[in-house]
Amino acid sequence: MKLYNIKENDEQVSFSQAVRQGLGRNQGLFFPSEVPAFDDVDSLLDMDFVSRSSKILSAFIGDELPADKVKQMVTEAFAFPAPLHEVSSDVHALELFHGPTLAFKDFGGRFMAQSLAAVSDGGKITILTATSGDTGAAVAHAFYGMENINVVILYPKGKISPLQEKLFCTLGGNIHTIAVNGTFDDCQAMVKQAFDDAELRQAIGLNSANSINISRLMAQICYYFEAVSQLTEAQRKELVIAVPSGNFGNLTAGLLAKAAGLPVKRFIAATNVNDTVPRYLKTGEWTPEDTVPTLSNAMDVSQPNNWPRIEELCQIKGWGLNELGAGAVDDQQTAETLSKMHEDGYLCEPHGAIAYRVLKEQLSDGEHGLFLCTAHPAKFKESVDEILNIDVPLPGPLAKHAVMDLLSNEQDADFAQLRRFLMELAG
Ligand SMILES: *Cc1c(COP(=O)(O)O)cnc(C)c1O
Repeated sequence: MKLYNIKENDEQVSFSQAVRQGLGRNQGLFFPSEVPAFDDVDSLLDMDFVSRSSKILSAFIGDELPADKVKQMVTEAFAFPAPLHEVSSDVHALELFHGPTLAFKDFGGRFMAQSLAAVSDGGKITILTATSGDTGAAVAHAFYGMENINVVILYPKGKISPLQEKLFCTLGGNIHTIAVNGTFDDCQAMVKQAFDDAELRQAIGLNSANSINISRLMAQICYYFEAVSQLTEAQRKELVIAVPSGNFGNLTAGLLAKAAGLPVKRFIAATNVNDTVPRYLKTGEWTPEDTVPTLSNAMDVSQPNNWPRIEELCQIKGWGLNELGAGAVDDQQTAETLSKMHEDGYLCEPHGAIAYRVLKEQLSDGEHGLFLCTAHPAKFKESVDEILNIDVPLPGPLAKHAVMDLLSNEQDADFAQLRRFLMELAG
């Protein structure tokens, strides 16, 4: 598979290079030179999740990795289901939270871990990432126990939920977590400094594992096919999919699935009040504002880093941006929707509720709706308990980690200190 840099088109890389490198020159995102299109989608939809996903990913990766290798990677990575739940006669929820860290980021994180291992030359790799929650957990669990790979995760001390912290700071082994006395932005700034440090980058084999890595996006294409495979022929005909969006990786993957031949009538981008994209689609003006904290904090993003890929794909396919639905939901509406859904028999969490609300607002008669549930309700237990006045039980993985000891180091937002730590770790 060849990929090119969206900003500097003359930079072309292989799948292996794109996985190892993450970003191209001038911070440009990589994009496939050719998006595969399946002509017999029906027979693809008849296959089981792992076989179908292997076929899709093989088509995207091309001949760089043999098909049986890809199948082995997928078997390892997608070891949990992505079931549909019927919320009403015309709407299904796609539950993407049945993996080890209870969020959809498990799919991308685990496939990226497999990809990186598959294309590695055996040298040492250090994954350095900053997190405010879900990404850190998914990356930590995905890379846990892998040889030659050290993972270092920075997070703002006291600013992520205690349960989230327990989920990824209790593993030990090759997973190193650092509670930084500072904000998420301080953490991110240190990661950026590390990447700007050519000597360090070389010495420790630095990689970011963040959501711009193409292997994460490719993995996410597969669960859109899995969702449609569970619908009836009639439901597939007029399908509308709402995606709760922050950095817009999830929506990019959905649009790539459509480009590959998945029958989807329309996508809807649902955000919280950090609504740069819904406003842009309405006015044609890109005017990000300061990021506002919300109940759906995994979507508190005002400069979505995957958006250029969506524009690129729409341009290639000749799709107008006006074909994309969009809507923004504030915290009060999110809470109301969560309560209404619960009364009607479905326990959701803020991110999924936002997608459900915008979907319901924009779904026409005769259409079938699907919305993505990106996290388990227990992952946002503090707000879900308070809004619904219930006590959400902790599912297995959370309950297990909740009673374990935190293994995090603590440090100030001091790059020199982080640098010493990284150099010692890589030996
Ligand atoms: C990361 C995340 C999102 C946003 O996904 P993007 O691909 O960044 O748009 C939504 N919900 C949850 C629970 C998340 O963790």
